Amino acid sequence: MTKYLQKCMNCNQYGLANPESKCRHCGGQLLNVNPPKFSLVDKYAQYRLAYFKEKFDKKIDAN
Ligand SMILES: [Zn+2]
Repeated sequence: MTKYLQKCMNCNQYGLANPESKCRHCGGQLLNVNPPKFSLVDKYAQYRLAYFKEKFDKKIDAN
């Protein structure tokens, strides 16, 4: 469940998200980790989906 992983802006330690967004190491503010990366993943997922769809269509034609 990496989406619940957050990073402390004070001591740069990783911690699990909690209601107070408080670092368990130093009590600092926890922030979400690398939100822009998700759009990149989605981009590749789109290519993968197109690839699998093509394969799937070919399979249908063969039968
Ligand atoms: Zn901390």
